[in-house]
Amino acid sequence: MSSPSHLPASFPAQRKTAPFHLMAKPVGPRCNMACRYCFYTEKEALFPARGDFRMSDRVLEAYIRGIAESQDTTELTYAWQGGEPTLAGIGFFRRAVELQRRYAGGRPVQNALQTNGLALDDEWCEFLARHRFLVGLSLDGPADLQNEYRVDSAGRPQFDRVLRALNTLRKYGVPFNILTVVHRANAARPLEVYRYLRDAGARHLQFIPAVERSPDGAARALGLQLAPPPDLSAEAAAPARVLPWCPAPEAFGDFLVAIFDEWIRRDVGRVFVQTFEVALGQWMGLPAGVCQSAPTCGRALALEHNGDVYACDHYVYPAFRLGNVLESPLADLVDAAAQTRFGDAKRDRLPAVCRACPWLRMCGGDCPKHRILPAGPGEPPVSYLCEGYRRFFEHAAPWLRRLEVLLRAGRPATDIRFEIAALDRQSAGGAAMEARHA
Ligand code: SF4
Ligand code: SF4
Repeated sequence: MSSPSHLPASFPAQRKTAPFHLMAKPVGPRCNMACRYCFYTEKEALFPARGDFRMSDRVLEAYIRGIAESQDTTELTYAWQGGEPTLAGIGFFRRAVELQRRYAGGRPVQNALQTNGLALDDEWCEFLARHRFLVGLSLDGPADLQNEYRVDSAGRPQFDRVLRALNTLRKYGVPFNILTVVHRANAARPLEVYRYLRDAGARHLQFIPAVERSPDGAARALGLQLAPPPDLSAEAAAPARVLPWCPAPEAFGDFLVAIFDEWIRRDVGRVFVQTFEVALGQWMGLPAGVCQSAPTCGRALALEHNGDVYACDHYVYPAFRLGNVLESPLADLVDAAAQTRFGDAKRDRLPAVCRACPWLRMCGGDCPKHRILPAGPGEPPVSYLCEGYRRFFEHAAPWLRRLEVLLRAGRPATDIRFEIAALDRQSAGGAAMEARHA
């Protein structure tokens, strides 16, 4: 196959494949913060010849071209993460946009940038707004909860700078969502977290639970401080020892329940909480909106600064390296047999407790990385968060059922508030009756 003349002849020829998502790391694991629960900055140890971790122009072009030429989609999506991707500098992203224009073939392009916000000044936000980047800003709640674990390398809090970033994003009209890591401290204060973010102007929220274990022999051999993902082909050897910042599974469930109750009463239709939107979609039989709750995974990969492609952002380990974009067509890496096995293991290695679970269609058995609890003799492990998900699904189910009825009747989801108001009136009436008869 001949390449268009502007392409370097040494780039691998591309072929088409089914849609996938590839998260690029322009400066690898490097970051200007040192969040105590971060699972990624320690990955510096995996790149001994690391230099400055900057993605070269050749890798950048291979990424942009690879996505454009392997996808038949009407729109192209490029995802940028880290470490902290803004450390690559605004010039890097100007170049990325220029390359996207060259390779997109006229298709609209969406960029998604996940950032800690420290770099986001007027110049950045003007750029992000002009090129319609969707920004994910990491914020764990009000100041004391944000500063609990999210600090710089000297241990200093950075809340004020992140709040400034949020306000600058709003000033320029940059679409953004807030990514909140649910940890031991903020899990205990769900309504404070939710109300703070909502009242700060956030309209799209993601709650990501922190689940990490202390290092084992495999981690230490790689120079890492966190245990690598569990082996799904064997039963869990011992109860998982999670690190102190991880929320208890029940606390995670209670966190979701408390926020759900506030959201369903006040905010349906104006605040979008990813967990709730995905749960409703799956309740109604739609495909999973996130990989964690899908039956299989494997179509959400990670691209390191040097061009190496890994099975997933949570599986950046030598055993899950698929190859390099400078040497192989991207579609070949995505469709590699090892990657298909990796993605199918999510379904094929479900423990019996999940296979019999009434919530399986909503939960998908959770992310394989979280499956660290023993699930019985000879069984693959079950998710650490299982109890939390059960609590949430059991609590939300009646409301999801009502929302489904509304939506299938062509009514807006916001009408749920009328039903809640009627129920509240009924229970207030019941309480008044009881008081009269007391
Ligand atoms: S391993 Fe987990 S995070 Fe990665 S693609 Fe699968 S479900 Fe998603
Ligand atoms: S709720 Fe628990 S048992 Fe049910 S599918 Fe999810 S992880 Fe498995």
